Amino acid sequence: MTARIIDGKAIAAELRAAVAARVASLPFTPGLAVVVVGDDPASAVYVRSKDRAAREAGIAAHTIRLPGDTPEVLLLAEIARLNADPDVDGILVQLPLPPHIDTDGVIEAIDPAKDVDGFHPLNVGALASGHPALVPCTPAGVMKLLHHVGVQLAGARALVLGRSSIVGRPMARLLLAADATVTVAHRSTRDLPAECRRAEILIAATGRPEMVRGDWIGEGATVIDVGINRLPDGRLVGDVNFAECAERAGAITPVPGGVGPMTIACLLENTVDAAVRRRA
Ligand code: NDP
Repeated sequence: MTARIIDGKAIAAELRAAVAARVASLPFTPGLAVVVVGDDPASAVYVRSKDRAAREAGIAAHTIRLPGDTPEVLLLAEIARLNADPDVDGILVQLPLPPHIDTDGVIEAIDPAKDVDGFHPLNVGALASGHPALVPCTPAGVMKLLHHVGVQLAGARALVLGRSSIVGRPMARLLLAADATVTVAHRSTRDLPAECRRAEILIAATGRPEMVRGDWIGEGATVIDVGINRLPDGRLVGDVNFAECAERAGAITPVPGGVGPMTIACLLENTVDAAVRRRA
């Protein structure tokens, strides 16, 4: 079998156009504030893309850049200012933060109603209890890809490879909410290839370049590669060996051009959702 390639770029473009149309119909302009501490080059690329995409959708985007040695107390003061600003509907603090800053404390300082990354404990708890409010953008984007492909989720055997709080865990919760039968795999999982082969839907989010091999894939499975890894030779690859896995999968996302563009599109959607809910 040669897999159908899931074109995340095109699907994200559709979603962004829908968000832009929704923004155009609103009597106000939603506002998004992105806070960046330090000058991590990878973060700079993401932040530029988020900023551009937000502006194209008609969202008022502001990037607040703080030096890498900003004391935590000043960052918290900036977040308090954004929480109180009526024109700001969404606040995103670009991760990772420098090591002298307590990341959990910063996330907890964000007004949960403006937490467009969906990382605040209240939003995490809402998702865990089946009452999602603002859902983390990457897993939300994966769900949209799965719906777009038309995969039957109810009853499907889904394996989430990785259990981070920003991808793996919320991914598993969303799949469970869609009635999939969900397994979460991690470093202590025994016989990972066999676990993967049983999956009808495989979501890879490990940060290990091309670790999922072709013979880990069940015939006809849907494979979603969340990974973004830069190799020493400059190539960008996922957590899945694309060429090998495309031979066995029914459908597969490429890297780049799969999940990445969906993450940004879902951030825009979360910002508009937060704006509409807050200003209702
Ligand atoms: P983390 O490092 O936070 O988590 C990685 C997870 O993978 C952990 O749960 C870890 O297990 C598991 N893991 C790592 N190595 C192995 C292994 N050899 N066998 C089994 N499990 C393993 O990463 P993130 O969740 O933040 O990111 C994952 C990937 O997704 C990265 O490539 C990242 O760049 C990408 N990403 C892409 C986004 C997008 O927009 N497309 C957005 C966010 C992330 P354990 O818990 O046991 O340590």
